[in-house]
Amino acid sequence: MHRFFVSQLDVVDDVQALICSEDLIHQFTKVLRFEKGEQVILLNNSGFQYEVELQDLGSKKILGKVLNKKFCETELPMKLVVAQAILKNMERLEWMFQKGTELGVSAFIPLLSDRTERKVLGKVERLHRILKEAAEQSGRGKVPELLEEKKFEKIFGESDEKIFVVPHPGATQKFSDFCKEKLAGENGEKFSGELVICIGPEGGFTDKEVYFAQSKGAHVVSLGNRILRAETVAMVMGTIVAETMGEM
Ligand code: SAH
Repeated sequence: MHRFFVSQLDVVDDVQALICSEDLIHQFTKVLRFEKGEQVILLNNSGFQYEVELQDLGSKKILGKVLNKKFCETELPMKLVVAQAILKNMERLEWMFQKGTELGVSAFIPLLSDRTERKVLGKVERLHRILKEAAEQSGRGKVPELLEEKKFEKIFGESDEKIFVVPHPGATQKFSDFCKEKLAGENGEKFSGELVICIGPEGGFTDKEVYFAQSKGAHVVSLGNRILRAETVAMVMGTIVAETMGEM
């Protein structure tokens, strides 16, 4: 069954669905040529999914009956935030957003660091579409948030509930060991807070930035002896997190 995230113009409650957004109406009636009786899964970012039978497909609105509502089991049991320094190469960044979404990232923060060459993210609408499509395709219950650009130094808040990790080539602690220690938990009690991973740009973080992060309590970790491209890093770390949480 096809899965669709509805927009704020649309309403899905426990009983019925009312779709008013032009995009979805166009997709349902013109692209997919759905007819009365078609069953779809609608998602409204609540973490629930609604199995809906389409009943009335008009050019201005579509009405459907909710057959079943169920909680999506596809979200990670913790919050995983990827703060990625803006890359010069937009295509690589888009790839990172897509793969991160597939792996369960809850939010992305575009970071500005000493060596970021591009200072604005740009193409935000396109990026939102990439996140939404990747979330639909991978069966997620929520579309990851795309937050405002933030300076690297400003990301380290005072909150005790967040753990910050900065991958940096040459660090002594392995990320997999960090995960075993901090996320896996003893007696099967898994981490349920927020893990923020800060990844450098093509030119990496400066030593000064790494010391600063450390002074704010961030854990500096290694992903092995080879230098990975920035966009590979989110994927590798997301995989290790999911594996630690017992998902893979
Ligand atoms: N030229 C840079 C590498 C940049 S790679 C340098 O030599 O430092 C981009 C980012 O990916 C880095 O800032 C770091 O956050 C992460 N990264 C890449 N390979 C890594 C590794 N083996 N261990 C830890 N972090 C790594």
